[in-house]
Amino acid sequence: MKEIPIEAVLTRYLPAMEFKRSGSRLVAKCPFHGDKTPSFTIFPDGGFKCFGCGAGGDSVTLVARALGIRPVEAARQIAADFGLPVGGRPGPEARRRVREAKEQREAKQMLDALCNHAYQRLCLVARSLEKSLTSYEAYENLAFWVHRQEQLEIYLDILSDGDEKKKVHVLNESLVKKLCS
Ligand SMILES: [Zn+2]
Repeated sequence: MKEIPIEAVLTRYLPAMEFKRSGSRLVAKCPFHGDKTPSFTIFPDGGFKCFGCGAGGDSVTLVARALGIRPVEAARQIAADFGLPVGGRPGPEARRRVREAKEQREAKQMLDALCNHAYQRLCLVARSLEKSLTSYEAYENLAFWVHRQEQLEIYLDILSDGDEKKKVHVLNESLVKKLCS
């Protein structure tokens, strides 16, 4: 049954379960006990474990438990539903499904990684805004500099590389005077 990703098995037999990624694992509320926090964990090797009620195993155990049948029947059921010949090599249909599940998983992982990255970047901005915008005065101060950002860059260029006349001119700008006083 290793050919069938456990997510594909879950989607088919326990479609109501909602998963969240937690590092390399997937977590969900356990379907086998009244779970308030997501205790049900799926590991990268396809095994699962509930840290609430202790249920655990692989996709066969899971389907057996979910459908209330014996593991050998569950294995047959999965094989039939996913087009796997029992004890044999997977047929073209099964291989296609497995490939699709793998592609979906990889696409999702890539999206997760992009989202994580964007989340961290936005988080930094949001947190620093939160820290600096403690009053209306702080807001106005920030807006003041935002509007002068381009000007600031020009001044910085001149102060480091400009000719003396320009440097003096910059030093006499009221904005610079105010800052340096
Ligand atoms: Zn449980």
